[in-house]
Amino acid sequence: MSTEQPPAVARRGTNLDRVGGFNDAVVLDAIRRAEQRLSRVEIAASTGLSGQAISNITRRLLDAGLVREAGRQKSSGLGKPRTLLELEPTGQYAVGVHLDPAVVTTVVLDLTGQVVVRRRAETPASDDPDVLIAGIAATVEQVIAEAGAPRERVVGVGIAAPGPIDVERGVVVDPPNLSAWHLVPLRDALRERTGLPVLLDKDVTAAASAEKWAGGPNGRGSFLFFYLGTGVGAGLVIGDEVVRGSSSNVGEIGHVIVDPDGPVCYCGRRGCVGETSQPRYLVQQAVQAGVLAKGIDLDDRHAVDLGFAELCEQAGAGAGVARELIAALADRIAKVVEDIANLLDLERVVFGGPHWDQLAPFFDGQVRAALEERFLVRSVHPFAVTGTALGADVGAVGAASLVLDHTFSPNPSVLLLGPAESAPAAVAGSAER
Ligand SMILES: [Zn+2]
Repeated sequence: MSTEQPPAVARRGTNLDRVGGFNDAVVLDAIRRAEQRLSRVEIAASTGLSGQAISNITRRLLDAGLVREAGRQKSSGLGKPRTLLELEPTGQYAVGVHLDPAVVTTVVLDLTGQVVVRRRAETPASDDPDVLIAGIAATVEQVIAEAGAPRERVVGVGIAAPGPIDVERGVVVDPPNLSAWHLVPLRDALRERTGLPVLLDKDVTAAASAEKWAGGPNGRGSFLFFYLGTGVGAGLVIGDEVVRGSSSNVGEIGHVIVDPDGPVCYCGRRGCVGETSQPRYLVQQAVQAGVLAKGIDLDDRHAVDLGFAELCEQAGAGAGVARELIAALADRIAKVVEDIANLLDLERVVFGGPHWDQLAPFFDGQVRAALEERFLVRSVHPFAVTGTALGADVGAVGAASLVLDHTFSPNPSVLLLGPAESAPAAVAGSAER
């Protein structure tokens, strides 16, 4: 794993043509991150750039329609009131698609990271990737139209897909729960159909990016995003930077063994956290324990979802076997979170994903207590346990935010462009406009 900022690497030029360079991105980022509108003087103070540079840059950003003037600051002394600047929401748009084995979520974000349009649809049952790709392309066109976004202001489409992925080739490699998806060139197929730059990244990395962009205080500093969906995964942000690893496949934690006597995983070993966190397994346990009625078809996703909802409801009603099953799940997950938190000296874990809402009540007390106790650096700083504020859209919001991030973020990983194709989360298609 690396944070892609090896200290000895000389920084090279960057390709942020759209905003005219690194300093423009720095200023844009400062405006974006500020909790209130900023004056040029304040921007100069927070970025370390000269007043003249700020004046030139803000003029370019105003001309490009990326920022706007928004009122004046009352003068504290004799000087004239300072004009305040904020992001122009309509300056850019990005589309985000979260491809989950169960549901495809599509959103349009404006430049401020606000969701302008959202759409959710069941993942088509077809085993043919072409059917799914055609469906995604059609939805992308629909949401852009619905957002009223001028096409030249749509900077691209981000796709969050289950890992592992081959980011350089834009290929979904072999997602465990999408059986027909073996080496599907998703990025290029979608670029051809939409004519837009397309970026492919892992769902958990996208979710971590969403948290960084739109998660408020949750998204600052160093944290783990723990994704609870059809599988489990971890997205990482360290020192305000999304961590990708050497091939953008960071966070494959699904096969960490948390119960040596647990069920056999498809990897051949027993008790992997991914396998033992699946609703399917929990429903099976609940049926065996007599908590749920016999006869649930474990291969029927819908039936499993209903069974899982009932199990959570029973667990919420009070003590008993249902509660014990969920408590054991929380404990298994806490063990994994604890190890990662200690390894990387993190500040918090943010839980999210399709099953988080159902599980949140049980994780709150138990996982928090367990982790607070087991976090080894607790005497230096606390470790927080939170849930995402972005709800079920977090993966799609993240995919779109990766596009915005890639375009505007002045982070070093964007700057460290190696040979043209090896930029992190390489965007297919020209970034120029
Ligand atoms: Zn396994």
